[in-house]
Amino acid sequence: MEAIPEEHCRFNVAKLKKILVHYKTLLKTLDTVMSTLHIIVPTLDDCEHLKKSIILLEKLWDHEDPDLGIKRLSKTVKAHLIFGHAYELFVKLKGFGDKNEEHIEKRHQIGKNLMDRVKRMRGGFAAQQKQGLKYRAIISDDKVKQCVDKVKKWASTKAKKKTIVTELEMKRERIEKRKCYVQRETNKRARLI
Ligand SMILES: [Zn+2]
Repeated sequence: MEAIPEEHCRFNVAKLKKILVHYKTLLKTLDTVMSTLHIIVPTLDDCEHLKKSIILLEKLWDHEDPDLGIKRLSKTVKAHLIFGHAYELFVKLKGFGDKNEEHIEKRHQIGKNLMDRVKRMRGGFAAQQKQGLKYRAIISDDKVKQCVDKVKKWASTKAKKKTIVTELEMKRERIEKRKCYVQRETNKRARLI
């Protein structure tokens, strides 16, 4: 096989890097917009952050660079809703976070967990059913359930409280990080113009 001249290689790597950076920024900004839209009870600062993120996203969305082969992305219905209406509705409805389907998804996951418990059990269908009945007995027999609940509650209240707090804290931290990212990218673009 014929070797490719080195300058040619380097040129292509540099080009490739530019293309990758463009799409990385685009996807990160898209991620920021979507996660901000999911914030429950947004603050004024969150709203401002959403506005900035959407402006940046639209710029990246429409960005064209024939030399790098980057074309503007098409405005799908979803894209139009984000660029044209999301911010206004977000402010008007005070966020969408409490109006999405996440809690339904969570229910599905609980159901799936119950299935997963017996899925890999040995002894075939009959044994799985037996185990399933045992679980159902625990949930449906009031006295058994009360005892199980009492023990579980005693054991997990402390741990649970801690988990919820850390989850919220981590979510906040992620949002703050994204805010910095959007600000940085916006500043970068402002300097270029
Ligand atoms: Zn419209």
